Amino acid sequence: MRIEGWRQDKISESTVMIVGVGAIGCEVAKNLALMGLGKLIIVDNDVVEVSNLSRQMLFTDEDVGRPKTVAASEKLVKMNPLIKIEQYYKDVRELDENLFRSVDVVCSCLDNWPVRRWVNSICVELDKPLVDVAMEGLYANLQVVLPRKTACLECHGENLIPKEVQLAECTLRRRKPEDLKKDLEEQRIYLRMELIEKLFSVGIKTIFDLKYSQAQVLERLDEETRVKLREVQELLKPKMPALQSVAATIGGLASTEVVKIIHGEEFGKIFKGLIVYDGYSSRFTKVRLERKKECFVCGDYVKTEGVEINVSLDDKVIDLKKKIAENFGIPDPEILYKKWKLEDEQTLREIGVRDGDIAYIETSRRFTPLPLKLIIAKSE
Ligand SMILES: [Zn+2]
Repeated sequence: MRIEGWRQDKISESTVMIVGVGAIGCEVAKNLALMGLGKLIIVDNDVVEVSNLSRQMLFTDEDVGRPKTVAASEKLVKMNPLIKIEQYYKDVRELDENLFRSVDVVCSCLDNWPVRRWVNSICVELDKPLVDVAMEGLYANLQVVLPRKTACLECHGENLIPKEVQLAECTLRRRKPEDLKKDLEEQRIYLRMELIEKLFSVGIKTIFDLKYSQAQVLERLDEETRVKLREVQELLKPKMPALQSVAATIGGLASTEVVKIIHGEEFGKIFKGLIVYDGYSSRFTKVRLERKKECFVCGDYVKTEGVEINVSLDDKVIDLKKKIAENFGIPDPEILYKKWKLEDEQTLREIGVRDGDIAYIETSRRFTPLPLKLIIAKSE
């Protein structure tokens, strides 16, 4: 409280959600608890593993096998008995949106792009400040997203999100069960054809679908298939090199930004952009990011007019899906038009699409469907 401008009352009244309680998530949670935050909501769908213990400082041997959120809550309450903690041992995409509405800041400490992008989209949609942090080896980065004021994760996605993540599985829906079998065998995972056909029947057609399928999809599988699918998901989990000191560095910076956001602009200047840390050469690089008015997540007209896409009446729905995949890096679009879900083989002419019509894209990458304005070439 001796720090000039520090408002403990504001911190004590605030709620922060931390998504992902891995190395960085542990650091941020510990920092915020020690700084006297009022309430912390922590979300993670993993349990503690032995390999986590060298860099996830809230866990010890006794926690192995326990949900990370449960183990973390116990430690945090010991550090600060006054803090309120709500923990969710769940996929963040299954949480009620009102929970997001109740927080002041979201801090995303995830290890994979698909869910980071989903968190980015809900934060922009609900106008919640987001601090997104990630690391790999001796590198780490931090981006602050103040919805519709600063760039979101998608504004420069074509440059900042790895190409293989963006387009890895844009081969889309014409896949056959054999394709998935082959992709899995490349990862040394061998499944019976019968099982793969069952996965196909609920729309799990790519490794991406396998890794990130949501609970509603899993519920449609029988128990045996579901158990097998969980085993496969375990094998496909990203194994990223990570170092405790780097987690502490970037987690420390992230916590300070969270505290500044809680203060409003009254306590230091909130960092608006991207910080990249390179531990090999002890270098911090600040990257200024302009918000893109035409961004398909935070753009000015996304909600009112939709994002535009050029089409031809002779395009089939599958062609439109490919365009969407290429333009927006969405690998699994489903298109809703006047309440129908469109079939791949129909042409836009057969469906009766007119210039300027709005369709909606549903994807696991976004919290809400993306409105899409269909612009038909003039000659038609
Ligand atoms: Zn954006």
